[in-house]
Parts: sequence; structure tokens; C-alpha cells
Amino acid sequence: MADWKKCRQKAEEVLKKYNIKKPLIDVFDIAQSEGIEIVYFQPQDSTDEDISGFFYEDTDTKAKRIYINKLDSAPRQVYTVAHELGHYFLGHKPNEYSVLLRQAVYATKKDEAEKEADSFAAELLMPKRMVEAVKKDYKLTDDDELILSQLFGVSQQAMHNRLSNLSRYN
Ligand SMILES: [Zn+2]
Repeated sequence: MADWKKCRQKAEEVLKKYNIKKPLIDVFDIAQSEGIEIVYFQPQDSTDEDISGFFYEDTDTKAKRIYINKLDSAPRQVYTVAHELGHYFLGHKPNEYSVLLRQAVYATKKDEAEKEADSFAAELLMPKRMVEAVKKDYKLTDDDELILSQLFGVSQQAMHNRLSNLSRYN
């Protein structure tokens, strides 16, 4: 079973480690500080085009890389890096995760490791207390998901999902 509590705790640990107290959360900076290289790839065919990104660790050299699709939008790339950082920080084994497909981001039928990486990404990019603080500071409500998404540098869809999740389970 996916461990949501672990996802939240790990994300909180990372935010604390890098002393991040408000958005935007610079996931590129976090990756770099962890010694993970960001590599942009240019899709060569229609199969590649469907891939948003993936995490790679060289078994011999231990070099770590996050590959991201050059053609994706900036908020999408941010989400991809956050998701792949999830596999890294949650200690998923390479046989437990796969490439991140564009359409699969909000799919419900996924492997546990993929669900956990998504959960970690949401907790890292849109921490509950930061969402609440921003809503309060700017006098925003859940109806303002577009403005909120821009303040957090995520897609409107990602913010929409996060807000409905927070209102349901917290
Ligand atoms: Zn994944």
C-alpha cells in the first residue's frame, strides 16, 4: 500500500533541509544540491513525445540524472522534477518505478511507487501550510485555483487536484 504519511514527512524534511518557507519551491535547485543532474531530452518519435521524464541512476558510477521533456511546459517540467525527486527521496528501487507518461499523471490506476511519487510531488510543491498561508495573505479561496497555481508555479490542474485533496482529507 502507498504510504501517504511517509510522502508528506519526506517532503517536509526536504523543505526543512533547504530552509524553504514559501513558494515557489525551486525543485531544480533541490536536485542540483542533491547532486542530481537535470538533462533535457528532445523527443525523437511519437513514443518519446509521451514521456514527461524519468529518474536514472548509473549502477556503476552512482551518477544520478532526471531526464525531462524539452517540449513540456514549464509547470509540467517542475512537476516532473518533483515527481522524480520523489522516487529519489522515498528510496524507490529502479524496478519499482517507470518513466512518467504525460497522460498518466492524473490517472488513478498506477503502481504504488508512482502514486507515492505523485503524492510527494504535491506535498513538496504545494505544502498544506503554505497553501493556507498564501490563501490567507492574498485573501484567496479554493475558487482562485488559477492564481494559486501561478503563485506556486504549478499547472492549474495540479493545483485543482491539490485543493480538492486538501479539502477532502485534511
Ligand atoms: Zn514515476
